[in-house]
Amino acid sequence: MDDKLKRDIILEHYQSPFHKGLVDNEMYIKINGKNASCVDNINVMVLFENNVIIDARFDGDACAICTSATSIMIKTLIGKTVEEASEIIVNYENMINEKEYDKEVLGELIVYDTVYKQPNRKNCALLPFKTMKEIINENNK
Ligand code: ZN
Repeated sequence: MDDKLKRDIILEHYQSPFHKGLVDNEMYIKINGKNASCVDNINVMVLFENNVIIDARFDGDACAICTSATSIMIKTLIGKTVEEASEIIVNYENMINEKEYDKEVLGELIVYDTVYKQPNRKNCALLPFKTMKEIINENNK
């Protein structure tokens, strides 16, 4: 994937985020995530059924990287089991942190494979995934 295509995908998800807007349903697990180093302040809500993520939504104010990463994360994780989602999250975090990762499991999330070049953007790209991990932990309780 070339850099222009990556930028286009990020911009598209920033301008028209997937599943932005919360629903009033207490079956969802909802957690807030914030970055002290950026404006990022997001609420992510997820509905699980039989260990599968059947829906996820978000809202809040965040920069282009964080908003688009939340949007692509939600699009990628809906329909996945908790185990599949956890594998994607680990590989994504490894990619952002310049460790070895399996790009086959990441799909469109690969657009962030050069974020490490802007260290102050890493937390922006990681925030939705940190929030999703907390939601999965809450669901496992
Ligand atoms: Zn940010």
